[in-house]
Amino acid sequence: MLAAIVGINWGDEGKGRMVDLFGGDFDIICRYQGGNNAGHTVKNPAGTFVLNLLPSGILRENTVNVMGCGMVVDLEHLAKEVDALRQRGIRISPANLKIAEGATICMPYHRLQDVLEEERLGAKAYGSTRRGIAPVYADKYMKKTLRMEDLFDEPASLEEKIRDLVAWKNLTVAGYGHEPVDADGMIAWVRAFGEVAKPYVCDVSAYLHDAMDAGKNIMFEAQLGALRDIDFGIYPYTSSSTTLASYAPIGAGVPCARLDRVIGIMKAYSTCVGEGSFTVEMAGEEAEALRAAGGEYGAATGRPRRVGAFDVVASRYGVRLQGADELALTKLDVLSYMDEIPVCVAYEVDGVRTEAFPLGERLERAKPVYEMLPGFGDVGACRTWEELPVAARAYVEYVERAVGCAITYVSVGAERDAIIRR
Ligand code: GDP
Ligand code: MG
Repeated sequence: MLAAIVGINWGDEGKGRMVDLFGGDFDIICRYQGGNNAGHTVKNPAGTFVLNLLPSGILRENTVNVMGCGMVVDLEHLAKEVDALRQRGIRISPANLKIAEGATICMPYHRLQDVLEEERLGAKAYGSTRRGIAPVYADKYMKKTLRMEDLFDEPASLEEKIRDLVAWKNLTVAGYGHEPVDADGMIAWVRAFGEVAKPYVCDVSAYLHDAMDAGKNIMFEAQLGALRDIDFGIYPYTSSSTTLASYAPIGAGVPCARLDRVIGIMKAYSTCVGEGSFTVEMAGEEAEALRAAGGEYGAATGRPRRVGAFDVVASRYGVRLQGADELALTKLDVLSYMDEIPVCVAYEVDGVRTEAFPLGERLERAKPVYEMLPGFGDVGACRTWEELPVAARAYVEYVERAVGCAITYVSVGAERDAIIRR
């Protein structure tokens, strides 16, 4: 079976914890886009782990983890993440971690370029994670970047490639008035951290095809959510890759594959990291309370996340983009403290009510239309649908109807077992 776990909203829906939950049923878990800008937090019996590059299946024994060709990989970050997990007793070897030859290498100068541009923008900054993701994807499509396969070049050939790339990049760096990137330093960096990565690099595509032929269960793990998709999200405040389920087979390495099951992860309220229109954004004490209740601080960056009510308009759009067959509604417990729960059921744009998600400047002008649903009190200890208070069930059913897709899982805590299966 081939399944994808994808985000319905702006990211941080709890994809990592759901991948961890389902992980036991899958032989292989693949990341297919993005880089170390991801922050997937997994709480399981072994502790709390934050994963940036590695698929969330790395925490399970007997699961093979794949980093597909659609990813961008900062070699230094990879080395550190592998090392940190090993120190906590997680076994990582070429048997359970496989990196595509075609995955793109994110260089230190991509990080630099990211920072230089955000600083140049000042108040108009995009709210980038500053990990070089936009510059490295841009270079990928310019066809001016290193891929994992290049690590196996003859040393002289690899060196020449790096010198050529650095010379080209320095044209940009000079434009910012920054001192040039040192090619020797880049060569040393690629050598050092490339050695750490090399044992894992293989023909992931062939591996996955064989696995499919052998009837293995494969799960694709998305980073970010539908509204951050480069094509269909809130451009330009999107990520620089395709976050959607339909890209998973391509970004992982099996473009011919068809997904049997798309599981959308949707949060019981809204959060958004970085800039861009966020129609349901709360302010002041109301925001503080929700942020504190949900622990909404970025896993990758520590930044306070913007928070708001559940957004039916955006979520229905996300469900459609992902082609979700079913949904997991996460973090329902966070709403326990509210006496009344606001839900954004429509937008008003230029005085006209709309239920279709607008893009561009129309989105910036959109105003939320709220309905209030009754609060439901503490649900953190519930483990079955029947145990949930009636008002909590009503909230879930309301949301389900509104977005038009079955909610088959409800999570009420970060721990692996804090989940209700319907
Ligand atoms: P991802 O990027 O989609 O994997 O999500 P993140 O890991 O960035 O953010 C989700 C956060 O919520 C993590 O800190 C999780 O431990 C936590 N979390 C996940 N599910 C629940 C839940 O049902 N209740 C609570 N209170 N926290 C949860
Ligand atoms: Mg996250």
